[in-house]
Amino acid sequence: MSKPHVAIIGLGIMGSGMAGRLLSADFTLTVYNRNQDKAAPFGSAGAYVAGSPREAASKAEIIIAMVSDDIASRGVWLGEKGALAEASRGSVLIECSTLTVGWIKELAAAAAQRGCELLDAPVTGTKLHAASGELLFLIGGSEAALATAQPVLSVLGREFVHLGPIGSGALMKLINNFMCGVQAASLAEAEYMIGAGGLDLEKALAILTQGAAGSALVQRAAARAFANDFTPNFPLHLMVKDLGYAIGEASRLGHNLQTASSALTIFQEAVAGGYGDQDFSAVIKSQQRG
Ligand code: NAP
Repeated sequence: MSKPHVAIIGLGIMGSGMAGRLLSADFTLTVYNRNQDKAAPFGSAGAYVAGSPREAASKAEIIIAMVSDDIASRGVWLGEKGALAEASRGSVLIECSTLTVGWIKELAAAAAQRGCELLDAPVTGTKLHAASGELLFLIGGSEAALATAQPVLSVLGREFVHLGPIGSGALMKLINNFMCGVQAASLAEAEYMIGAGGLDLEKALAILTQGAAGSALVQRAAARAFANDFTPNFPLHLMVKDLGYAIGEASRLGHNLQTASSALTIFQEAVAGGYGDQDFSAVIKSQQRG
């Protein structure tokens, strides 16, 4: 069976890793990035570099977006030079960014009007998982769209979980990330207490990371902070976005997400302190300033 022509819109930390995977697996690939400098290396590696999301979509049967937030996603799909205007009837759109449920549903309706189908497919995993094809896709949408996307998703991910209709993937991703944000914020406060109370950091972290509090997230964030390496795998400002989106979704479901609200305040303080473009684990460094 021939491989579908794929377009990737958004070549940030995650989209660039995904594009690299598809090129290594010999897919015909078109790429688009707002800042064209990030697209150039993919042109040299064999991808077609489109000048707009619209041009990227015109060439592809499967169109993937991996951009920051609802505003960016709306722009690349429905903006003046947006992808949807040139997407062919029958093409499958895969939205992998972490977005709100409301926007995903609106985008799915716009796609259907155009004769295309949307797969709601945010991911867990970070920079290294994107580059090595080990993402976990959280899927909302139809079985048919998932079957069409499967040859592409299987190159990009280790697994995909079909959670239900459109919006299910987005909701699951926000639940996952608010829990990650809360854990990172609590670790940041814990490390403040360790420092201010005069405990040995290495011994204290061994207790926390190897004991009941030591989730995979806590282990990763603690290791990054201990190494004082905040090169972004997951930029901190995106955690602010995810916590805000999760609080909004919970509110629509009738619940005040109190733990996420506290974590959001801690992450907002980190952004105000200048850590927004660093890795999310820099929230620990931010709290250490007292
Ligand atoms: P990133 O490195 O900051 O990249 C963001 C991408 O969005 C860039 O291509 C950027 O283009 C584009 N963009 C931003 N605003 C735009 C706009 N108004 N119009 C067009 N393009 C715009 O972020 P990332 O880490 O790859 O994350 C991408 C998405 O995946 C986010 O929704 C994030 O929450 C989610 N995610 C990230 C991780 C992770 O570990 N990094 C893990 C899971 C999910 P420019 O280059 O031109 O700025």
